[in-house]
Amino acid sequence: MSSRKVRKLTRKIKRKKTMLLLFSFFLLLAVGVFSAYQYRDIFFKNEASKNVEVVQEKEKEKVPIEYNAKVFMVGDALIHWGVYNDAKQPDGSYNFRPMFDTIKPISEKYDLAYYNQETILGGSSLGYSSYPRFNSPQEVGDALIDAGFNLVSLATNHTMDKNEIGVLKSVEYWKNHPDVVTSGQWSSEEERTASVTAVHEVNGIKYAFISYTIWNNGLPTPYGKSYLNNEYSPEKAQADISAVRDKVDFVIVAMHWGTEYSFNVDYKQTEIANYLSSLGVDLIIGSHPHVVQTVEYINNNKTFVVYSLGNFISDQNDIDNFTGLAFEVTLKKIVNVDDTISTSVVDPKAELIYTTTTKRNGINYDFKIVPYKLLNNNQLPNYTYYYDVYKNIVNERYPNLTWGLTWE
Ligand SMILES: [Zn+2]
Repeated sequence: MSSRKVRKLTRKIKRKKTMLLLFSFFLLLAVGVFSAYQYRDIFFKNEASKNVEVVQEKEKEKVPIEYNAKVFMVGDALIHWGVYNDAKQPDGSYNFRPMFDTIKPISEKYDLAYYNQETILGGSSLGYSSYPRFNSPQEVGDALIDAGFNLVSLATNHTMDKNEIGVLKSVEYWKNHPDVVTSGQWSSEEERTASVTAVHEVNGIKYAFISYTIWNNGLPTPYGKSYLNNEYSPEKAQADISAVRDKVDFVIVAMHWGTEYSFNVDYKQTEIANYLSSLGVDLIIGSHPHVVQTVEYINNNKTFVVYSLGNFISDQNDIDNFTGLAFEVTLKKIVNVDDTISTSVVDPKAELIYTTTTKRNGINYDFKIVPYKLLNNNQLPNYTYYYDVYKNIVNERYPNLTWGLTWE
């Protein structure tokens, strides 16, 4: 073969190779485009569904968040001689725990459990005393703290019964129990200011707690020492509440007010309740009459008022005074999707409690606080009749009140 022929043949082969390469390239391109077309749905769908998930995730974040705290409350702990005599042990110490062992399984379940310490826990050095100027063993506090009580009002008409020293001893006792929120007695003005503006927290809910008394039994605080017993005045309440209102979700005020032994709400209670509501108080817990009174929402449901819980424990030795309310409400806080906060006092529930005793030689022993439902006719003859009498008094302004607590 001539060299020209060889060159011609080589060129022919090269051209064929180029054609083959080009053909292969276009074929691959075609397959690629076709495949991309085939799978386009999957690619785009994934992208699309991812977007949907992101949107859903954002919507999930925007669901309102709810917080709840359940509050239990009982009335006056009025520690007469009969009560502390019954708690006295052979060795001279005091044990009040058995008096509360039926109420403890209920009270200890709540987030907040309130009672009113009517008589001061001034301790043994001042000597214990009964009516009219009380001083009570501090073991009363020990037993009630053990039963779960952690919210205690201290401003009462008996706060100054043992003068300044009595209050200082009481304040010292409660300071040794920092898990318990108290209000109403302090040892200085600075302490008072810190206490009334304190922001407490339970279950993600912020609250303030202030206790006032409108009565002082003619034993006013000494001049310049008004912090010893928190006597109510509209000006004081206005200053206290406006200083803390915006820092908390709920303002709880304990009021020692009302007419003793009266089942009716008096004009002063009505006036103060409305005023406190106008200042933004959410829950008013009343005591002092030593008998139960009604409950109600006021001011377009802005404030719930328990006018009088009656006695919690006493030796007043009468069916009216041995009967008290055990009450519960739920503090509900909702953080809305736009980050605003809604709060309300909801689900009020009531139960009646009774102080059972056994009498020997005219003296009461074996004091025990028992829910009416657990009573029998030996402890209180015709107890179902009395249950209805007191229930009707409490229902007066709130006929649809739920009877029976969450835990009992
Ligand atoms: Zn009182």
